[in-house]
Amino acid sequence: MYEQDIQSNETIFGKILRGEIPCNKVYEDEHILAFHDISPAAKVHALVIPKKLISSVNEASEDDLTLLGHLQTKIPEIAKLAGCDKHGYRVITNVGPNAGQEVFHVHYHILGGEKLSGLNPML
Ligand code: AMP
Repeated sequence: MYEQDIQSNETIFGKILRGEIPCNKVYEDEHILAFHDISPAAKVHALVIPKKLISSVNEASEDDLTLLGHLQTKIPEIAKLAGCDKHGYRVITNVGPNAGQEVFHVHYHILGGEKLSGLNPML
C-alpha cells in the first residue's frame, strides 16, 4: 500500500521500513511500525512511525487524517506491548530544528517505564 513511499524514504527509518537495517520491533500493521529507540531516553522508549512518507507533523495534510488517527489510537496498545502502560507515559513528536528533530520522517516517541522528570525529557 505504501511501497512507493517506503522505497523513496531516504531517512534511517526508511532503511528500517525496507528491512535494510534491523529494529527491535514492538508492533506492526499495514499502516504503521513501532520499535524500540536505539538510544533510549527513558527505561522504555519506543518510536511509532507511519509507513507513508511524511517528514513531520508540519507536512501532514487532511489526506493523513485516517492514518495519523490510526497511529495515535494504537499508542496505548504499543505502550502496553513495550511495557510502560501501567503508570503512564509521555508521547512526543519533535518538529524541526528548535525541537531537535533528527530524523525527518514523522515519529512519535513513547517514553515511560519510570517517573519522568521535567517538561521535556528530550533535551
Ligand atoms: P528525533 O530527534 O525526534 O528526530 O528522534 C529520532 C530518534 O531516532 C532518536 O531518539 C534516535 O535515538 C532514534 N534512532 C535513530 N536511529 C535509530 C535506529 N536505527 N533504531 C532506532 N532508533 C533510532
